[in-house]
Amino acid sequence: MIYVLTGGPATGKGTRATILAKELGIPHIATGDMLREVALNNKEIREKLQRGELISDDIITNLLEKRIKEPDCNNGFVLDGYPRTYRQAELLDELLNKLNRKITKVMELVVPDELAFKRILGRKKCEYCGTVYGIDFPPKVSDVCDKCGGHLYVRTDDTEETLKKRIETYKENAKSILDFYRKKGLLLTVDASTNPDSVVEDAKIK
Ligand code: AMP
Repeated sequence: MIYVLTGGPATGKGTRATILAKELGIPHIATGDMLREVALNNKEIREKLQRGELISDDIITNLLEKRIKEPDCNNGFVLDGYPRTYRQAELLDELLNKLNRKITKVMELVVPDELAFKRILGRKKCEYCGTVYGIDFPPKVSDVCDKCGGHLYVRTDDTEETLKKRIETYKENAKSILDFYRKKGLLLTVDASTNPDSVVEDAKIK
């Protein structure tokens, strides 16, 4: 079971990927989270993330390859934030062919740009467990995580200016990636403007 979640910023990839991974009992792999961790000790990557620019296909694909070879991915995984370029879609195919594995489905999440802005500008994340809060899911106590009590922070790339750049970058690359998966019969488009109860239902898995 390999599910790929794609969509622009604040389309709810992280939220849906977390739910789907839990429902299916497989890991959620978010390339943005992997890069934010690398960025802690890498100034060049940190600056690119802050400007809303994409990290090179080679760097991110090498990180991903290492991650999906770990034993907890043996039954599958939910991929969030990759591929972001046509080349990454090709590289993912090459990688999965090499490992004798196949994508089950690609879910494209769609929301209007205005909603993405509203969501991003109210978004906060727990620095301990990673739970994301926002206009749709506010914490019970301001800046405190409901689940673990951790402190909530605003991502440094969640600014209006960076968001415009990230939406632009997504749109530039999306068409060729979506066509690639549509031709393979793997693409499912999901209206992500409402909160999901179950992503398994969206994914028409059951
Ligand atoms: P996200 O958490 O998915 O919104 O990603 C945050 C940032 O990480 C993006 O704006 C990019 O700068 C970078 N990033 C995440 N995934 C990728 C990827 N597959 N390829 C290149 N850059 C990425």
